Amino acid sequence: MINTPITINRASVSKIEATDLRNPEFGKVTTDHMFLAEYAGGAWKNARIQPLADLSLSPLTLALHYGQSVFEGMKAFRSQDGGIHIFRADKHYKRLLASLKRMAMPALPEEIFMGGLENLVSIDRAWVPKSGEGSMYLRPLLFASEARVGIKVAEQFCFLIVALPVRSYYNRPIRLKVEERFIRAAKGGTGSAKCSGNYGAAFYPTYLAQQEGYDQVIWTDGTEKKNIEESGVMNVFFIIDGKLVTPPLSETILDGVTRDSLLVLARSMGVEVEERPVSVFELEEALKTGRVSEAFGSGTAAVVAPISLIAFRGNDYTLPEYNDQSTMMQLKSKLESIRAGSAADTYNWLHRVTN
Ligand SMILES: *Cc1c(COP(=O)(O)O)cnc(C)c1O
Repeated sequence: MINTPITINRASVSKIEATDLRNPEFGKVTTDHMFLAEYAGGAWKNARIQPLADLSLSPLTLALHYGQSVFEGMKAFRSQDGGIHIFRADKHYKRLLASLKRMAMPALPEEIFMGGLENLVSIDRAWVPKSGEGSMYLRPLLFASEARVGIKVAEQFCFLIVALPVRSYYNRPIRLKVEERFIRAAKGGTGSAKCSGNYGAAFYPTYLAQQEGYDQVIWTDGTEKKNIEESGVMNVFFIIDGKLVTPPLSETILDGVTRDSLLVLARSMGVEVEERPVSVFELEEALKTGRVSEAFGSGTAAVVAPISLIAFRGNDYTLPEYNDQSTMMQLKSKLESIRAGSAADTYNWLHRVTN
């Protein structure tokens, strides 16, 4: 596994028997353990697995005041032979490094990231659902833990990983509103970093859209509010005139691991793919003339979230019904079978943890 020593302190009793694993409320049910490591004096130290417990933080904790905090969202799966693997751990690690750089935070050594994930998943392996029934959501978080209300790049940081079992569930199609007042990201900003503050800033526009009966917003660019960027906290795809179209990566778009995986699979299935700017006007015209056959969001949690309705300037445009033959559902099923270990891992996406 790794060279950095990781101290392991096991929980004396497991909560697993007392947990309703058939229907865990997403984001609340955790496994028995957590991984922690601290950075101080220029070095990472004290890497450990311990029973999951509340943190004790000074009220001066820098991340709480200034938002110097980044995270990842990834998943571990059990394959049919019972072995457990993490999906595209290397790509998540690279993205974490890019986020850390943008937020002036110290790089995390790969062996701490991978070693933390591997040890946590391994010690809590009983919590990983059976193949095809769900997954273990992994949430690495790295924040400035220094106790100092002084505006200066922090010198002390905390890295932790928590694990949450999740069941596969049916997601109802989502209704989206094109947002032209608020923006998620601006050129030169932090939109391509997975930093905590991006989420905090998105809640209010999303809340307003929900008051109007929509689920999420479709973000437009910060300059002209013209080009489509993302849908809520997912990347966004359309099928226009039979082609799979998604906005190109830029410093205002988060480089989704699911987005990348779906693009690879679509190309391998012979689907014509275009990564190019999509303006709201092009989209509206294509919706009006029935040239948009499918629209969906992509992300680790849902893989593919079908979009049933797009609202633009007071007009609601309904997308056609979809079925298992729809391109997005075929892409979803292909990616899900690779993640579940039931289709060949052609691209080396599975990082094996236990046999
Ligand atoms: C995490 C995230 C995504 C999706 O990324 P995945 O790696 O596919 O889960 C998309 N947009 C935003 C803003 C995100 O934070």
